[in-house]
Amino acid sequence: MSSGIKKLAVDCIPPATVAAVVAFWAWAPDSMIANPWTLLVVNSVVTAFVLGLELVFERHEGWRINRQEFFTDLFYFVLINTVISRMAFILSEAPLHALKETWGIATPWVTAMPFLAQVALVVFLWEFGQYWMHRLMHNWEPFWLTHAPHHHITQLNAMKGAVGNPIELFLISLGIVALFDVSPAAYLCAFAVTNVVATYAHANVKSDPPLFYSFFFTTIRHHSFHHSVGYENTRCNYGNSLILIDRMFGTYKEGEGILVGQDDRRRLTIWEQFVFPFKPLIAMVERRKGSSSAAG
Ligand SMILES: [Zn+2]
Ligand SMILES: [Zn+2]
Repeated sequence: MSSGIKKLAVDCIPPATVAAVVAFWAWAPDSMIANPWTLLVVNSVVTAFVLGLELVFERHEGWRINRQEFFTDLFYFVLINTVISRMAFILSEAPLHALKETWGIATPWVTAMPFLAQVALVVFLWEFGQYWMHRLMHNWEPFWLTHAPHHHITQLNAMKGAVGNPIELFLISLGIVALFDVSPAAYLCAFAVTNVVATYAHANVKSDPPLFYSFFFTTIRHHSFHHSVGYENTRCNYGNSLILIDRMFGTYKEGEGILVGQDDRRRLTIWEQFVFPFKPLIAMVERRKGSSSAAG
């Protein structure tokens, strides 16, 4: 195979994965769609596949996965798919469903839309909320303190999208999609698609998808640039999966990051990631302790 064709084939792996996932949900039997585990199984298979690609089509040697990185990432992958998603369901999705019932909110026009249009609608609604939440996190200190641990990661890998402070992980699990009458298959498909895109956008894989994909969807180029070391450089490309929204609101920037992290690029432990938002509070308490002991 000529190197040009080989490069194109590697570049097309992310769009091909999205197509495969969409096809799966479009034709999955009802019993699979009704099974609450199916989405997690699909997401896990995609993640394992992309982790495999990292070994075959490595993008940067400096991002190569090791045991410590793998098990930290796996911890967060499990956390987000168990505790965090359960909390988001109880505190956000279920109350929204109840509100929808009480207020009699109905969107029959959504149910009447073709499958792909429903998927696109959910992806857009979801990503629109994510975009503004993410942008807020980069523009308001209390929210930045919850998001900063995600930016302290010093390399990018398939499961790194799940790495962050639990408060942030909860905040990015909120959305208003529950208010719409979307078919269950389209609803699940939309989340599977955003998972595929976000997984590749954090992965150490040398695929640079063509414009028909990268105009709409976030790629590793866009997102690695968002993970640049300087704080000011992170304030662009907020779209988790839909870079289109950055193009719409003027926050799109062309570029790519290789060195990623924040400040002195020191890797944080899971404990440090958990307590990060409370650092100013801890420092204040310690200063008070220090001044009272000095006074005493
Ligand atoms: Zn960010
Ligand atoms: Zn990220």
